[in-house]
Amino acid sequence: MKIRLDNLKVYEFSEPIFDSLGKVVDEKIISKTAPEILAEHYPHYKEQMKKVGKRHLATPESCVEDWITINWAIEKIQNIDKYAHWTIETAVYPGAGTGNIEELQYLGLGLGGETGELLEHIKKYVRDGKIDNVAIKKELGDIFYYLCRLCIAFKIEPSEVLSSNYYKLTDRKERNMIKGSGDNR
Ligand SMILES: [Mg+2]
Repeated sequence: MKIRLDNLKVYEFSEPIFDSLGKVVDEKIISKTAPEILAEHYPHYKEQMKKVGKRHLATPESCVEDWITINWAIEKIQNIDKYAHWTIETAVYPGAGTGNIEELQYLGLGLGGETGELLEHIKKYVRDGKIDNVAIKKELGDIFYYLCRLCIAFKIEPSEVLSSNYYKLTDRKERNMIKGSGDNR
């Protein structure tokens, strides 16, 4: 599916405002044209823009498709926020919904426990050569539950976690730094 951004149209976006600790505290509405959006994501496009001037540069279709894909991905991952906020309805444990130390302890233990359950299925797969996809799906769901509860406890939207991870990995891929070690490479 191909969607062409209109160079003349002004697109509106909400952009997060971060505090000094990197936490989202507010959002602002910004307006951008298609060439400006593309220039942000594609340094080579910025260079071209400088040379020929944005008014004269046709939007490269491949860039448009990539940009649309990125935004579709972000839109989709925002669905996880709805799920994460819904989980409070099932949260019955010490400190549920407070983000206090009791809740963090419970969620940390829960995440570790469910990860262990997943590993148990992987172990059996290694041993017996059979994979139980139904059970795996349930365990992955349990892990997701605890990850989402932890996000809420730390007041971070899961979509923020996914989008920042997406950009981190995309950047590493572009710089050919996927392999190697260290969080800040
Ligand atoms: Mg489980």
